[in-house]
Amino acid sequence: MKNRKVVSKIAVLTSGGDSPGMNAAIRAVVRTASHFNLECYGVMEGYNGLIHDDFVRMGPRAVKHIINQGGTILKSARSPEFRTREARAEAHKNLDKYGIDGLVCIGGDGTFTGAKIFGEEYDTRVIGIPGTIDNDIFGTDNTIGYDTALNTAVDAIDKIRDTATSHNRVFFVEVMGRDAGFIALNSGVASGALDILIPERTDSLEEMFKTFRKAHKTGKSSSIVVVAESEKLGGVYDLAKATGEEFPDFDIRVTVLGHIQRGGSPSCADRVLASRLGFGAVEGLLRGENKVMAGLRSGKLVFTPIAEAIKKRHEIDEELLKISEVLAM
Ligand code: ATP
Repeated sequence: MKNRKVVSKIAVLTSGGDSPGMNAAIRAVVRTASHFNLECYGVMEGYNGLIHDDFVRMGPRAVKHIINQGGTILKSARSPEFRTREARAEAHKNLDKYGIDGLVCIGGDGTFTGAKIFGEEYDTRVIGIPGTIDNDIFGTDNTIGYDTALNTAVDAIDKIRDTATSHNRVFFVEVMGRDAGFIALNSGVASGALDILIPERTDSLEEMFKTFRKAHKTGKSSSIVVVAESEKLGGVYDLAKATGEEFPDFDIRVTVLGHIQRGGSPSCADRVLASRLGFGAVEGLLRGENKVMAGLRSGKLVFTPIAEAIKKRHEIDEELLKISEVLAM
């Protein structure tokens, strides 16, 4: 493949919430750039580094031994400043200073919103790579970090199950998912949860109580309910309280898994996804792609306009939700 020089120098940044596999994506971007004889820069701390001229020149050796590391060597940040026109003008001035004409933004929908606005204001070519554990981005089957987070959640819930079974307890386990129930649904199915509460579905306490009664009749003596952090019934503590009032005999506990879901060495699937998307993003820039996101759908690399990736919803698998209810009893 030849570099047709649609872009000549590129920069890569990670922004928003970090996710395992971001490093593998950085590595892929840097090494693909080197393959095509493109100069490549890393931008520190997301959009903050663009605004405050925090760039590092990156060659292939700068990304050695990071494919297996969680987090991001470029660090990530939420940058309220980048929401202002003045800060974005500074960012563009800095990119111009280095002669950078292509920008790879790894992050979630907030990161893509910033990239879209910047790409509309200036002639810098922008391309997004979906890096977030929530899997809430349209245009890709999986986002980078989602698979690792799922495995971390399942591993933790398996451990909780051991103690739940030993003591005949009911556990409410909160998993991450800012506005989405992908982690909850899939970790719930994989760990054999009795009930799964996600923001995409209107749940009611009465329905949940009905499930508990049904389970009791089938002889279940311990149960796990997996709850997405953004679920709409008031959160794990309120759920536990309401359940305790309805079933005074239940021994109820709450566990919030929290940030352990963000960390750790990325899974094989996330490393491969990140490698494909990092390569695809740079190759896409060279082919003239602009204001798009690189994603993988049914095993194929696809580019989705960033505007669409932000606007459309990545739908939950309704069938899996139904299956989970059948299999829980
Ligand atoms: P995650 O889904 O993991 O939280 P994210 O990319 O959605 O990741 P956000 O904090 O929402 O995380 O966004 C990251 C950054 O993108 C923001 O801190 C800000 O710098 C930039 N950004 C978000 N929205 C806008 C906007 N409307 N205009 C300019 N920049 C924005």
